[in-house]
Amino acid sequence: MGNIVIVGLGAGSFAAVLAARKTDRAVPITIIDDKSYDLMHPCGLPYAVEGIIESFENLKHALHLEKMKVDLRRPFHVDKIDAKKQLVIASGLNAGEKIEVPYEKLLIGTGSRPFVPPIPGLNALMGKGAYTISTPEESEALKCKAVSGMKAVCLGAGAIGLETAVALKRLGLEVTVIEMLENIMPRALDSDMSAILQGHLQGLGIEVLCGRKITQVAGAGFLQSVFVDGEEIAADILVVAAGVRANSELAAEAGVAVGKVGIIVDEKMETSVPNIYAYGDCTQTKSLIDGVDFTLQLSTTAYRHGTIAGINAAGGNTAYPGVSGAFVSKVGNLEVAAVGYTTAFATAAGYKIVFGKLKDMTLFDWYPGADEITVKVVADSATGRILGGQAVGVTGAAWRVNVISAAIHSGMTLDKLSEVELTYCPPISQTYDALTKAVDLAIRKRGG
Ligand SMILES: Cc1cc2nc3c(=O)[nH]c(=O)nc-3n(C[C@H](O)[C@H](O)[C@H](O)COP(=O)(O)OP(=O)(O)OC[C@H]3O[C@@H](n4cnc5c(N)ncnc54)[C@H](O)[C@@H]3O)c2cc1C
Repeated sequence: MGNIVIVGLGAGSFAAVLAARKTDRAVPITIIDDKSYDLMHPCGLPYAVEGIIESFENLKHALHLEKMKVDLRRPFHVDKIDAKKQLVIASGLNAGEKIEVPYEKLLIGTGSRPFVPPIPGLNALMGKGAYTISTPEESEALKCKAVSGMKAVCLGAGAIGLETAVALKRLGLEVTVIEMLENIMPRALDSDMSAILQGHLQGLGIEVLCGRKITQVAGAGFLQSVFVDGEEIAADILVVAAGVRANSELAAEAGVAVGKVGIIVDEKMETSVPNIYAYGDCTQTKSLIDGVDFTLQLSTTAYRHGTIAGINAAGGNTAYPGVSGAFVSKVGNLEVAAVGYTTAFATAAGYKIVFGKLKDMTLFDWYPGADEITVKVVADSATGRILGGQAVGVTGAAWRVNVISAAIHSGMTLDKLSEVELTYCPPISQTYDALTKAVDLAIRKRGG
């Protein structure tokens, strides 16, 4: 075959280049990316702000792609894709030189950017007390600004906002989280599960205000305060964690179809324009449960998408089954994990749901070190099919949700999941685990 050109080098493109090279040992591959380093791990940024990761440099990686016979052109910004001529036009960010790179197959992995809401006063104070958390540079600027005793406000109570709130609290700042929806982590957790997390945050001394909106940001040259529904709160730092927006404009300008939240792709990760593939945060996805629109911008999803696109672009033939939304975060001392549909999402999607929810200990009470864990399993009451799951606990939330994720992938019902044997040893788990107990509770509620 001819050649492959990849735009952007994040989790998705990294997976794509590995998959493409495994599929075709010889195909010429060029990657064009606008960073001044190869790969970066955004997921580590809040923990670098906290200081658990010692340096922001530790999040940057050299990939030595030349060993895989991959030509990496960076820092170059792709300005245009000419889909008719099958050509990519890019500018060098150091010397400003222009390059034109022809392609036979094009892979777009341009990721996303943080959403900065149009709040009066905010734009002018970005970098001057108000920060997003998406690059090492801006996260480091936030860390440099953060001094013990200062007041910080986090706009948005998704994973990034909460992980950063905890980081700032542990650096000695007074922290308030403002979430406009009724509960924290609203996309992943039902309100009863997020209440556990909210209690934990309050226990750490973080104030959490739900159902409240920042209406104005004020300061002359540097941030001084935010207005929450008109009430002024003094603030030295504002963390803007209001979600992300797909970098889909480049593709749209090339004539690629773009939907409400990102580039539209089929199960091969191919776009509406032949020979152009896309993946990761710049795309929109469908649920593997029932094919409804269900987009979650996660590294795990980007990696899987990229693998599928890389194989197909290099001449292979594979398909993406849809996204499960398996997710985990460490917020303070708690693991918070979720997969599939919350009860609210499932209900809005037309399901009559049944759920089993249970608070238990991770270990028998006679073994030292047991922690509380709460597990919730959501299923379709008509068929018993598992639709989602959530778990919150000091330990063990992620593995239980991983089991539920596997159940969703294989279309399991509550009855089938109840039959799955889980491991037991006193320092690790109980013989009859909280997950199985929650599943059995849902079976009983369903009348089984
Ligand atoms: C603070 C933070 C914490 C996170 N934590 C988690 C987590 O714990 N777990 C999880 O699963 N996910 C997490 N995520 C999400 C995860 O990082 C993203 O889903 C993932 O990075 C998306 O990968 P991607 O390849 O689609 O895009 P990206 O990683 O964003 O890569 C896109 C690349 O394309 C480049 N680019 C864009 N446009 C152009 C252009 N025109 N020309 C050249 N180059 C271009 C960009 O500079 C970038 O290098 C987190 C994200 C953030 C910001």
